[in-house]
Amino acid sequence: MPIQEHEIHWIEEPEIGFWEASLLPGIAAGIRTTLRHMFREPSVTQEYPEVKPDLPANYRGVHRLNRDDQGRVKCVACFLCATACPANCIEIVAAETPWPDRDKYPETFVIDELRCIYCGMCEEACPVDAIELTSIYDLTGKSRQEMLFDREKLLSVYDETVDSGKDPIRTRSGELGPASTLLEAKGPAT
Ligand code: SF4
Ligand code: SF4
Repeated sequence: MPIQEHEIHWIEEPEIGFWEASLLPGIAAGIRTTLRHMFREPSVTQEYPEVKPDLPANYRGVHRLNRDDQGRVKCVACFLCATACPANCIEIVAAETPWPDRDKYPETFVIDELRCIYCGMCEEACPVDAIELTSIYDLTGKSRQEMLFDREKLLSVYDETVDSGKDPIRTRSGELGPASTLLEAKGPAT
């Protein structure tokens, strides 16, 4: 159905006077806004990378595989993290250990850091606190292959972060991680 004449609203082109045509009001308003942001309003921009972001305690970044008190990989290859992972990005091959204090260890342990959604389910699922997410956020690589973190790489992340003070053991057996702790502090959802 064609548009009826009474449905059309013609707009008159506004007349621009000398003052508007000079652009001075617009320039003055722009300078006013710039000065307000410079002197009155707090900056919301972080000067990254000169200024590092202040991350919350429950920030979930790159994974690490923790070591036990003898420096061995702490993982007992139980597959609970891989089972809990919603992105299906953990691949483990278990093997018999040469050690008397446990049966299995991960012969290979690979996390696809590109497929991961950093949900933290793996660290919540781990019964021995062997896998954790750290505060490392600036993850880069030149290929997809580089972003497949194997056991040695994940252990090296542990070595890199263990003394940083930012990444303490976050999930102790029987205790919830910090994300859950924050939820508990807020009380049950209504
Ligand atoms: S953080 Fe989530 S998505 Fe990433 S490996 Fe762990 S369980 Fe999988
Ligand atoms: S849940 Fe923990 S112990 Fe089990 S396979 Fe994963 S990292 Fe290893």
